[in-house]
Amino acid sequence: MDDDIPYLLLTPGPLTTTRTVRQSMLKDWCTWDAEYNNLTNDIRRRLVTIATTEPGYTSVLMQGSGTFSVEATLGSVIPPDGKALLVDNGAYGARIVKIANRLGINNVVCKFPETQQADPEVIDKLLAADPAITHLAMVHCETTTGGLNPVDATGQLTRKHGTIFILDAMSSFAGMPIDVAAMGADYLISSANKCMQGVPGFGFVIARQSHLESTQGWARSLCLDLFDQWQEMESKGGKWRYTSPTHVVRAFLQAMSELESEGGVSARHKRYCENRDTLVSGMRSLGIQTLLNDELLSPFITTFLCPSDPAFSFDTFYQALKRRRFVIYPGKVTAADTFRVGTIGNAFPDDFRQLIGAVKESLDKLGIHIPHNTLNSPH
Ligand SMILES: *Cc1c(COP(=O)(O)O)cnc(C)c1O
Repeated sequence: MDDDIPYLLLTPGPLTTTRTVRQSMLKDWCTWDAEYNNLTNDIRRRLVTIATTEPGYTSVLMQGSGTFSVEATLGSVIPPDGKALLVDNGAYGARIVKIANRLGINNVVCKFPETQQADPEVIDKLLAADPAITHLAMVHCETTTGGLNPVDATGQLTRKHGTIFILDAMSSFAGMPIDVAAMGADYLISSANKCMQGVPGFGFVIARQSHLESTQGWARSLCLDLFDQWQEMESKGGKWRYTSPTHVVRAFLQAMSELESEGGVSARHKRYCENRDTLVSGMRSLGIQTLLNDELLSPFITTFLCPSDPAFSFDTFYQALKRRRFVIYPGKVTAADTFRVGTIGNAFPDDFRQLIGAVKESLDKLGIHIPHNTLNSPH
């Protein structure tokens, strides 16, 4: 880790960025002229290139955190008489349900346990049984657990049933190879501060243009009107409606160049996988087990079961690690006591080897005893 940072953020975003990304924010640039608007269009074009090789896709940038873009999409691309099937197997799926209910969008919820993937067979039956369903929304990597949902199978089902597919790929986009067209998603949502390794301030939506074009006037919000924002960017050469996060945009451009120089998404995916493997095998060597089985683990964030020793407290463990310059993340699943460690951002396998040393030191210092067992051990 760089020696000028207070600690390494092992969270699912905002995450640790490079010094060069942070340095790009040290100037105040103008936002009203063609130079800036061209940068916006450059970002939009390059995002589409990362998302697919197929023609027919466009992108829209939206101010705010990632959830703003999820709300903008749900609120803008489902017509007033539409009905959505919402897949929920974690906190972010549940947030989609909350947004739909708040916006008064007619919906049915398809719920699965947090520790399981969504089941395409169940989704297929629900879509077949209810022809009123026009849209389906699902999370790709459920950041609650770090588990991945079966997007390709779901995409095939939405095609079969003629359903519009909205995918929250917040924590997976740019961290694993994805082709939005091949997977059959009509809308894919992510944000600046996850695997793109920018800083927080805006989200973006990759959209199948022919559908987005049909959504004029549907938005349930002025600021979060995806169509209007897209129209403004398209017709005014890259202009945002309302003030844009200038510094964040500059940092994002730098982050995009750094993704390219790293070798693109596949190289980044490989690094994240190595980070995760180093983390998981190191934790297991200390007797700390993952919540999910290996085949469900994503390279973005991993949930670990808290040691069963009654002396263990997440807060003191967290503080002990923070003093050693590692910031981890609390658990979010309801069924078990857990904590999470992110493996995305400007972090490398060596950082995770050091983290394991810090975890061992912290547990020893706090007097936490972990009985070793063979359950849940690496294959
Ligand atoms: C991070 C994340 C979001 C958005 O979170 P914000 O805090 O609004 O940026 C949404 N969905 C998933 C799956 C996420 O990981």
